[in-house]
Amino acid sequence: MDHSKRFDYDYIIIGSGFGGSVSALRLSEKGYKVLVLEKGKRLEAQDFPRSNWQLKRWLWMPIMKFHGLFKLTFFRHVATLSGVGVGGGSLVYANTLPIPKKSFFTADTWAHLADWEQELKPFYPQALKMLGTNRNPRLETGDLALQTLARQIGKEEHFEATNVAVFFGEPNQTVPDPYFGGEGPERSGCNFCGGCMTGCRYGAKNTLDKNYLYFAEKLGATIQPESEVYEVSPLEGKDGAEGYRVRWKRSTRFFKQKGEFTARGVVFSGGVLGTVKLLLKLKRSSLPNLSDKVGYGVRTNSESLIGVTTFDKNTVFSDGVAIGSILHTDEYSHLEPVRYSAGSGFWRLLMSPLAYGGNVFIRLARFLGDIIRHPVLNLRAAFIDDWAKRTQILLFMRTINTTLRFSRGLLGMKSAIVKGEHPTAFIPEAKELAEKYSKIVKGKPFVLITETIAGIPTTAHILGGCVMGKDREEGVIDKDNRVFGYRNMYICDGSTISANPGVNPSLSITALAERAMSKISPKETAAAKLESVEAGGM
Ligand SMILES: Cc1cc2nc3c(=O)[nH]c(=O)nc-3n(C[C@H](O)[C@H](O)[C@H](O)COP(=O)(O)OP(=O)(O)OC[C@H]3O[C@@H](n4cnc5c(N)ncnc54)[C@H](O)[C@@H]3O)c2cc1C
Ligand code: SF4
Repeated sequence: MDHSKRFDYDYIIIGSGFGGSVSALRLSEKGYKVLVLEKGKRLEAQDFPRSNWQLKRWLWMPIMKFHGLFKLTFFRHVATLSGVGVGGGSLVYANTLPIPKKSFFTADTWAHLADWEQELKPFYPQALKMLGTNRNPRLETGDLALQTLARQIGKEEHFEATNVAVFFGEPNQTVPDPYFGGEGPERSGCNFCGGCMTGCRYGAKNTLDKNYLYFAEKLGATIQPESEVYEVSPLEGKDGAEGYRVRWKRSTRFFKQKGEFTARGVVFSGGVLGTVKLLLKLKRSSLPNLSDKVGYGVRTNSESLIGVTTFDKNTVFSDGVAIGSILHTDEYSHLEPVRYSAGSGFWRLLMSPLAYGGNVFIRLARFLGDIIRHPVLNLRAAFIDDWAKRTQILLFMRTINTTLRFSRGLLGMKSAIVKGEHPTAFIPEAKELAEKYSKIVKGKPFVLITETIAGIPTTAHILGGCVMGKDREEGVIDKDNRVFGYRNMYICDGSTISANPGVNPSLSITALAERAMSKISPKETAAAKLESVEAGGM
């Protein structure tokens, strides 16, 4: 009996970021009929904004009818940056794909479940290849300043160009697919415009729609954009053994069109902000067997983002790929210079002088003190000719395990501090490095005003919330990404990351999703097993 006939699809995947795209391709390869439901739009090169002043094209804010690719979400204890659209975070990300250090694999939050370094060994190279990763060939002004800093602190051998998912052919020249033996889409050579985080308008960035999703569609997977999933419920039984009903609504219309599909299995891949929010809601309604750990273990890379604005009119930071180099400042910490393309100066509206302190009064006093001591510099920075050209954002990350909890709140999801360390906006090493960097480039450091006033750290790498465990008392999923309490239900995205990688996480999310999908039997084998169970054979 063909069990798939009872369902619209074999698997429905919710979200098309890194975890969702891997799942879509690998399940399609295994012969399953796959549907991907994605909240955001399908955006092509010409849809991306010329600069981040084109708010309607840049931001995802449906209430304002802004249907772009970048979402900013504020919680009480963290501000998050994320991507929305077919390809998820790959549309806005800075293409950088480092492999984490050993401490990630051996962290006690998940080391008891598997030898992760060994387990993931085959999947990192596979992910690097699929994502089209190469070494950045050009160090630019901001990278060279980082190299000078590395020399000053005696760490020059720990400075290197980044591995990035960008095609470096002849600038702006289009060629047939250079990655998959001609089977993939054509690419154009990177012109080092610095615009990767507002969407590549030149077809040089290897976003997920150019690799995993491209091949998934070629194999028959359906991708339905502008469709936000709001309900998943088991059909008949309580544990999903009889399949699921998945309900969605149009995310880009005020008067929402709605629909539903059935499937034998479901993969949640909405990223932390999508998956955790949805599961927190469903635990109270259609999926009560979910572990009580949903929302626990939310972590960041313990990042600090500091913008250094130079007053030297000859210095241009905006040329190059978004992140061209990395300095491993010690065994646990890393520093990367991040750039926007010339003209992308939106963030200048939210900048304030760097002012550290344990409470808002100390920070405000230091903030005002800085304005009084350096009125001219602060004014010059506020009205600098081109913020992106003159500002180098410094991204400091470290492996320290700091966690938060997300739970249901009046407006969706809220954050809370749990026992142990939590993410902080104030990392003395980051401040010290930013001050040294500022001297090198004749500039001044600034941070987001949310950090100065409310002490809220900002992260582009929100992780966890559906962590792994040996059972449902310890985690939401097992070590193979299967959801405790339900059959044929998986989570594959950043919410499953159960330790702090200390570096940009997309490669690890991809590798873990590859591993999880490698454990699923091909459709024929799965069907044969099911029939044998039904016939009492197993
Ligand atoms: C500006 C910026 C720069 C970054 N740079 C880097 C970098 O250089 N290197 C790196 O490794 N990482 C980087 N990141 C982080 C990276 O983008 C994320 O870690 C990664 O995208 C997370 O992958 P994911 O699989 O968890 O889901 P995501 O990529 O976040 O995708 C989830 C998708 O699911 C969709 N979705 C959510 N809920 C629903 C729902 N209910 N129904 C339907 N669809 C839904 C969302 O619209 C989204 O498209 C950056 C992030 C930002 C914001
Ligand atoms: S630097 Fe410009 S051309 Fe190159 S990948 Fe980034 S956005 Fe595309």
